Amino acid sequence: MGRIDQETVRHILDTANIVEVVSDFVSLKRRGANYIGLCPFHNERTPSFSVSPARGICKCFSCGKGGSAVNFIMEHEQMSFQEALRYLAHKYNIEIQEHELTDEERQMENERESLFAVNDFAMAHFEENLSSTPDGRDIGLAYFRERGINDEMVRRFHLGYALDKSTALHDAAIAKGFEEKYLVKSGLCIRNEERHSVYDRFKGRVIYPVHSISGKVVAFGGRTLRNDKQVAKYVNSPESEIYSKSNQLYGLFQAKRSIVERGKCILVEGYMDVISMHQAGISNTVASSGTSLTEGQIRLIHRFTENVTVIYDSDAAGIKASLRGIDMLLAEGLNIKVLLLPDGDDPDSFAQSHSTAEVEKYIADNETDFIRFKTAILLKDAADDPIRRADVINDVLRSVAAIDDLVKRQVYLAECARNFGVSEESLGLQLARIKAGKAEDVEKKAMRQRAAQSLEAQAEKAERAGSEANALAFLYSYELRLLRYVVKYALCELCDAEDEDGNLVPMSVLDFVTTEMQRDAIEFRNPICSRVMDMIRESAGQWPAYREERIRQLKDESASRMAEAIAALRNEDLSVSAINAREAQIKAECEAFVAQETDMAAEDFVSRTLCSSPDDEVRVLATNLTIDKYQLSKVHTKHNKVESEREGLIRLVPRALSELKSAVLEVEIRTLQARLDANGSSADDLRELMRLNELRKEFARCLGERTITPHKI
Ligand SMILES: [Zn+2]
Repeated sequence: MGRIDQETVRHILDTANIVEVVSDFVSLKRRGANYIGLCPFHNERTPSFSVSPARGICKCFSCGKGGSAVNFIMEHEQMSFQEALRYLAHKYNIEIQEHELTDEERQMENERESLFAVNDFAMAHFEENLSSTPDGRDIGLAYFRERGINDEMVRRFHLGYALDKSTALHDAAIAKGFEEKYLVKSGLCIRNEERHSVYDRFKGRVIYPVHSISGKVVAFGGRTLRNDKQVAKYVNSPESEIYSKSNQLYGLFQAKRSIVERGKCILVEGYMDVISMHQAGISNTVASSGTSLTEGQIRLIHRFTENVTVIYDSDAAGIKASLRGIDMLLAEGLNIKVLLLPDGDDPDSFAQSHSTAEVEKYIADNETDFIRFKTAILLKDAADDPIRRADVINDVLRSVAAIDDLVKRQVYLAECARNFGVSEESLGLQLARIKAGKAEDVEKKAMRQRAAQSLEAQAEKAERAGSEANALAFLYSYELRLLRYVVKYALCELCDAEDEDGNLVPMSVLDFVTTEMQRDAIEFRNPICSRVMDMIRESAGQWPAYREERIRQLKDESASRMAEAIAALRNEDLSVSAINAREAQIKAECEAFVAQETDMAAEDFVSRTLCSSPDDEVRVLATNLTIDKYQLSKVHTKHNKVESEREGLIRLVPRALSELKSAVLEVEIRTLQARLDANGSSADDLRELMRLNELRKEFARCLGERTITPHKI
């Protein structure tokens, strides 16, 4: 695969709608001009993930992750920049133009891409076996048919069959040019070091591919069809660079839309449970695939809904083992219901033997609140033994304590009091005791964290001991403040300036800042700031070509609209002069439209580019500067008028510039003074110091309000 050419990249970035892209993974609610949802990058119960359609970026105000649509996909799907672009191109049906790979780029083709490719190949190979080989049909497909799985589900879940030959997949893959090392790394094949041989892991098994949330094949599960007790019933892909078992739920890719639509997720245990439920029309079903639930899996569910129904077969041992996992769901703020199937049924057999309506009705009629369910199960066990009853009460109260919502907790407490025949007060006391114990744990953890942090802070201080580092730290906030205006408004017109011939030409924020900094020989001294500034310049350099193209598009657009409007005039009964007047008016409107759209594109061009940068640091900083929550977009002027930041630029930018200059001056003075203190004074040094001090006073006058005095440099 080559690299996507620049123009296509731009087209993809322009087309990708951040709200649509994020919505595929996070359930978003509108709030004002933005959208919010639960952050997919960290564990949280109250939404702090904000998406701004206007700026085309998203950001978590808790963990700080986010960026443009491309960055979101990179981060979320663990893709490279190029992979993420391809993902978006695919989503928006954009044809990809690419240029030839250089040798260096070919080397950079990363491992993950190769693993996904080999998995893709294997999935197609297994599917092909199932439908087009005698063994596949007679053994594999026959098995699925016998289990009542229809063709639609076979396709939907990409079920397959691995031939019962030890190198069938291996040989087919090698013949297609795949490298053996990726077959081994993905776990599709196993290397026997002693015999120096490589063989297929899944041979002679029916295959269930495991898809990531975005539909990439990350792993496989294989079930043997032999009745041999020596052979493991299920074999699964090992963990790899693209597969972490605890962060996947089987069927989530196929179920996610339905989960959002129905506002609920149904949790079962195995592959066949999921497939049969989907076939029965209960398409919001997923499975934890045999493992007990992990926090990662819970977080996956919580991205799409708050409501979970866990289905159990009536096997009591299995239920008790999983009760603890459910406390985790409660702690995560999810609403949990539990459904017990009739004796002898599992979700697979139940879904197979009932119609959609029957399954739906059974769920609606029989799902029980989790705490109630747990109480009933445990009480049945304890019978009349008073000590065991006390244990049960404590156990149930621990679940209640996991619930964050105070009102819900009170309701449960009242109910438990009734069930156990104990007063609400004493239960309340016990609950408080349990919660206090928990709080103590949390507090201890926090203390450990604080201790670790202060060590870090000390290390940081030690590192900054050098005076250069001190100076950088001091300058950082000033550089950032100025940089923020440049990132957000680089191409916006700020003022007029005279060119060489004495004509007045408009000057952009970027030009203004560049000129001013050059005049005073100031540069951004923090490396990240100067890197961002370089990228702003580079991006601004691409603007004229982009602008031309954009104007051409807009003109095409408005030309056809204009033609329509003018054609419509013909149908009206107007005098020739009236028609001429209207035509002129329509033309003027279209021109104004083009100009306005171009202006708007100019305002966003640079920030959008930077917020999509493949450079992590640049992207994060640019995103922070562009949608800093705490930066008001309205500013109050001295005369108490409110204006937008854009309107105030003519004051704000020069001021930020002066403050930076003043801070630089301060650093120079301190440095010089330190040198004088250490080495004694030369006449030149003293003169220089006096000059700088004069400058400082002058600056203080200009800046008016305050003189900057750093604490220590
Ligand atoms: Zn976050």
